[in-house]
Amino acid sequence: MIDFTLTDECGADCPKWIEKWVEWWNARVKEREPLAMMECGHGYVESLPRASRRMVRVANTTYEFREFTYNNCLSDLSKINQSKSVRQGRPMADHYLQPAKPHRPLALCERHRDTWYGGFSRETGEMKGYARLETFGETGLLNVILRHGESLGVLNGLFSYMNDNANVKLINYLRIASATETLTAFKRRVGFRPWDPVTSEFIEEVHA
Ligand SMILES: [Zn+2]
Repeated sequence: MIDFTLTDECGADCPKWIEKWVEWWNARVKEREPLAMMECGHGYVESLPRASRRMVRVANTTYEFREFTYNNCLSDLSKINQSKSVRQGRPMADHYLQPAKPHRPLALCERHRDTWYGGFSRETGEMKGYARLETFGETGLLNVILRHGESLGVLNGLFSYMNDNANVKLINYLRIASATETLTAFKRRVGFRPWDPVTSEFIEEVHA
């Protein structure tokens, strides 16, 4: 399900790329901590609560979603990063408040990918929200997802776009029990459900 294996087809940066996550992933398996997971290609929008479905529809009329190259969007990235000094009740790490610096493009392979997705205003062309999806075989790990402080709803459209276009079976958004209750509630509203890293199955929840 999650593919951390190195093969002859791997690029020069694959070993480090894998190393970055394997320890985190193995710790979650060891502790059997429920992960926040969404399944792709199974009627994502229809599965959402009504309010979230509406936000996806509005987002699709307001923004255009697509992959982008990090180094080509530094100014928009900086504006998004700097638009809020506090998120989810916590101060942003200092590097987000500095201008975004160019990245060295990574030499990866088809199974191990580094993809940036953005939501661009249909009116001005400016990017208003973005996500970095780090893919290992059939599972994508969401490392960063941020929106401009004034652009409510852009992330709803971004999740929907990635669900349709990321070419993975599962998207993980770290743990279901997040640092704040607001973040946990957000993850659930946009379609992430608890998933057992030991059995690789979703955890059935009993609703009262
Ligand atoms: Zn590789």
